[in-house]
Amino acid sequence: IETHPNLCETAPVALSYELFPPRSPAAAESLWTTIRELETTEPDYVSVTYGASGSNRDTAVELINRLLLETTLRPLAHLTCVGNTPEELAEIIGELLDTGVRGILALRGDRPQDGEPPVPGSLRYAQDLIELIRRVEQRRSALLCAGKIAVGVAAYPTRHPESPTVAHDVEVLLAKQRSGADFAITQVYFRTEQYADLVSRARRAGVTIPIVPGVMPLTSLRRVTRLGELTGVEPEPELLALLAGAETDAERLRIGVRATVDLANAALDAGAPGIHLYTFNEHVSALEVLDKLSLPRQARSVGRRSAAAQRSVAAQS
Ligand code: FAD
Repeated sequence: IETHPNLCETAPVALSYELFPPRSPAAAESLWTTIRELETTEPDYVSVTYGASGSNRDTAVELINRLLLETTLRPLAHLTCVGNTPEELAEIIGELLDTGVRGILALRGDRPQDGEPPVPGSLRYAQDLIELIRRVEQRRSALLCAGKIAVGVAAYPTRHPESPTVAHDVEVLLAKQRSGADFAITQVYFRTEQYADLVSRARRAGVTIPIVPGVMPLTSLRRVTRLGELTGVEPEPELLALLAGAETDAERLRIGVRATVDLANAALDAGAPGIHLYTFNEHVSALEVLDKLSLPRQARSVGRRSAAAQRSVAAQS
């Protein structure tokens, strides 16, 4: 992968997690327990989400700064077009680079549901943000002498809700690659063949960048249903029925972890270059999934899992 050596010269099968900035002091405390647990698994990076409106900019920056200063983790900062002007975005990108961030996930962001118009003059597509990042990078090339910034983008195993066809989604991914994207992370998906189908369509169209499957631990009925509604990706009815029928939390965890591991292993069998786990700021399900996955790094990480994590998993089984 032609990217910043500190971020993307990763293990043969890369491991990464998504976190979101906490919304309260209690959420921050619990997030930091999760971060410490996830850190023991030595991920290649952790991504930090960014509210489309830019409203959580301060908490996102604070989390990224703490990750850089207080942990061994490398942050991948999400950034969106819709809530900021290009000038503001250029400033944010510069600030991120100044604090030591070397990877950005360039996204458009979802348009406000309340009919609020986008910020006047805001960038239209993720592709425009990639180009902006590359321009800022160019201006700061002296600072970045250790290598270029890793720029990731979103990819869609099922059609993006605003896109006319899956073929159009692949065209967009190719356009993002041509504008300077180094890798893609997929939206959640629930059927094993959807990832392989996306990769094969993308490769036929000339997309060569790594496409990392974004996998959500399928252990919470409420969360799976909600995310299905938010993203327009339909969960499997069989999985929903199994989760709904589980009589205990431990049984639900077992069912959800098995389904997640099946999804991730199918992607690895299809040649996935890594696994990106949507953690929802919780470590128990993520660590359970990791324990059961056939990742080469697993041998390294399992032994390092803290007693606390093992106790919390045991308590639920
Ligand atoms: P784009 O690639 O710009 O695509 C948006 C729409 O425009 C698509 O329908 C596409 O087909 C169309 N399009 C794009 N380029 C062109 C073109 N050149 N010509 C014609 N049509 C075009 N949202 C957040 O708000 N914050 C986050 O932190 C966040 N993190 C995410 C992380 C991942 C891994 C993923 C998969 C999604 C994330 N999202 C996040 C959601 C994302 O913002 C939405 O899915 C959004 O609707 C589209 O973003 P995009 O970057 O794919 O946009």
